[in-house]
Amino acid sequence: MSREGLGDARSQGEDASSQGRAKVVRSESEWKERLTPEQYRITRKAGTERAFTGEYWNTKTPGTYSCACCGAPLFSSRTKFDSGTGWPSFWNAVASEAVEEREDRSLFMRRTEVLCATCDAHLGHVFPDGPRPTGRRYCINSASLKLEPEGEEGG
Ligand code: FE
Repeated sequence: MSREGLGDARSQGEDASSQGRAKVVRSESEWKERLTPEQYRITRKAGTERAFTGEYWNTKTPGTYSCACCGAPLFSSRTKFDSGTGWPSFWNAVASEAVEEREDRSLFMRRTEVLCATCDAHLGHVFPDGPRPTGRRYCINSASLKLEPEGEEGG
């Protein structure tokens, strides 16, 4: 029995508005249709792209990095820094409510997973060894992001 019948992207506006935002909910098959296989593997299955292979690890273009799944703004180029890890790294999110954090004990490690607060896309992990002023390092997969360059549309 498949869950596809549940599928229509429903934006739970009324419910979620009490928490200040609307959730984007889609079925697995819908995400599969809308994303590339690499994006699907990473964002919906908590995968990781290989270091130095993603689209944005070395990008310095000013702009906003939005969620590859739902388009919600997540990170700004203004907080991007060169971590040397081969993944796009940020010392803060655009807003604290843009992302959610969750304990991740997979792979015999204890890490903090970072997800899109709007659609629950897996983005990457956050570590406590980042630069000032936050001291945080959001280590994010390029495949979870889409850069909207500044000035191109209301930038
Ligand atoms: Fe999202």
